[in-house]
Amino acid sequence: MTRDDGVDLAGRRAVVTGAASGIGAAVARRLAAAGAQVVVCDRDDDGARALAAELAGEAWVVDLSDTAALADLTLEADILVNNAGIQHVAPVQDFPPERFAFILRLMLEAPFLLARAALPHMYARGWGRLVHVSSAHGLRASAFKSAYVCAKHGLEGLSKVLSLEGAAHGVTSNCVNPGYVRTPLVERQISDQARAHGLSEDEVLGSVMLKNSAIKRLLEPAEVATAVAYLCSDDAGFVTGTNIVLDGGWSAR
Ligand code: NAD
Repeated sequence: MTRDDGVDLAGRRAVVTGAASGIGAAVARRLAAAGAQVVVCDRDDDGARALAAELAGEAWVVDLSDTAALADLTLEADILVNNAGIQHVAPVQDFPPERFAFILRLMLEAPFLLARAALPHMYARGWGRLVHVSSAHGLRASAFKSAYVCAKHGLEGLSKVLSLEGAAHGVTSNCVNPGYVRTPLVERQISDQARAHGLSEDEVLGSVMLKNSAIKRLLEPAEVATAVAYLCSDDAGFVTGTNIVLDGGWSAR
């Protein structure tokens, strides 16, 4: 059954990366509710299979940091949501170089390779939607997040190039830019920061994480999924090379 909000994705096959948890799981559920056949792509075997079963979709268990294995891929996807990601917090002088390279492989090279694998199918059908889960950190920097900020800024550039190349083929490419979302990735950061600063988790949320957000609450994964679903809709056919920023006013300053 599709939801009555104008987003009808019946007949579309959607690959969502990092879909076993957090934002990716919310996006997978939202696109399935709009009628898409969803491929739940994640390295978490049990999580991917459980959600695929719930959505009558497919599980694709893969480690997206193994980019050599993605080089010759062909992807039959009408919709690709590049979402899988991780965080590592350390000052540049202490940042492990192999961790930096890993994050760029997972969060920039893999999105490039997956788009590269999906475009022939999209171009053949004259329709496609590439949506990249970037971040407020795709538009702004924060200290101690060099790899993450570089990967997200790179993803913004990739999305713009894809929008230019895809336009003649009915393929759009856009980013969504959440502030802090209530997911396991953020819950881990709250407890890490509380330990590091000797603060309570509430204090970390208020005085550290949401300090620059005009709206003082975490964003919900379902709110990100609604923005992604809109970008996948036919109504968003003229929206390309741009962003939906859901940062509670953080970048308005
Ligand atoms: P999460 O940790 O809840 O989920 C990430 C998923 O990615 C997990 O299911 C994990 O198994 C998968 N994944 C990680 N490494 C992988 C790999 N090598 N191969 C395949 N799958 C892998 O995280 P989340 O908070 O839902 O974040 C999803 C995306 O949203 C990330 O790109 C993140 O940067 C972005 N984002 C998150 C927030 C936030 O506040 N949570 C804010 C802005 C942007």
